[in-house]
Amino acid sequence: MVPVKGIFGKIVGTLTALLGLMVLFGAGYLYLTPTPQGFPILEYHMVCSGEIEPEETAYNVPPEDFREELAYLQREGYTTISLLEYMKAKRGKLTLPEKPIVLTFDDGYADNYYEMLPIIEEYGMKATVYMVTNNIGQPRYLTWDELRDMQRRGIEIGSHTANHIPLTALSPEDRRDEVYLSKLLMEWNGIDTVFSLSYPNGAYDDTLPELLKENEYLTAVTGDGGLNTMETNPYLLQRVNIPCPHFGLTEFKFRLWKAEAMAKLGIWQHRER
Ligand SMILES: [Zn+2]
Repeated sequence: MVPVKGIFGKIVGTLTALLGLMVLFGAGYLYLTPTPQGFPILEYHMVCSGEIEPEETAYNVPPEDFREELAYLQREGYTTISLLEYMKAKRGKLTLPEKPIVLTFDDGYADNYYEMLPIIEEYGMKATVYMVTNNIGQPRYLTWDELRDMQRRGIEIGSHTANHIPLTALSPEDRRDEVYLSKLLMEWNGIDTVFSLSYPNGAYDDTLPELLKENEYLTAVTGDGGLNTMETNPYLLQRVNIPCPHFGLTEFKFRLWKAEAMAKLGIWQHRER
């Protein structure tokens, strides 16, 4: 008779072996599957070296980490593109570089002008900033002059709505006001045609792409993780979230790798924030 302890040991041994095989096959599958034709859109918020609120720490990528991340992207052969360039390529009017990437910044903090922009320029890169129009000129947020100067220096300005309320929580009339008025206000104040939107808290539903189309937006970014292709719905673009790194550049590399792995496996992550 085999003692109970022995049977238990065998079960654990078999399970461990099975798990090991699964990990091995999984890694092999990911390694052998060709790199998807998708490209990442990185989701940043703050790039600040100064004092910030404790609840903002998680969204702040300190300038030295940010510089390291851009240097890595450059070494890896990525070329930053704007979302307008993506749309032009989608319509056959532009050929994208071999490894395109989009850098996006939500909420419109003043550090985007004072700390992020000089680093972006140092690397000759591009970025898109999504502005909450009712915050423009408020303490710690970008002003109209800063926004216009950023645009002049190659930054694409998009809308993050007028009040940063999740659009899914609003009535149809209020939703329309949020997307239409924020766009109009920026264009009245000397910002080029605003054609891209970032959903507050990443919240969207089936009706929002149509509303954005009616209001002459061409693209919108969500908080869902993954890569994008020419086939991705341009109003439901996926992003790779880049919060404050706890493990430096390794964490950044892992986040990019994870998005690629999810794209290969066809797994998308829906994230409400
Ligand atoms: Zn936001």
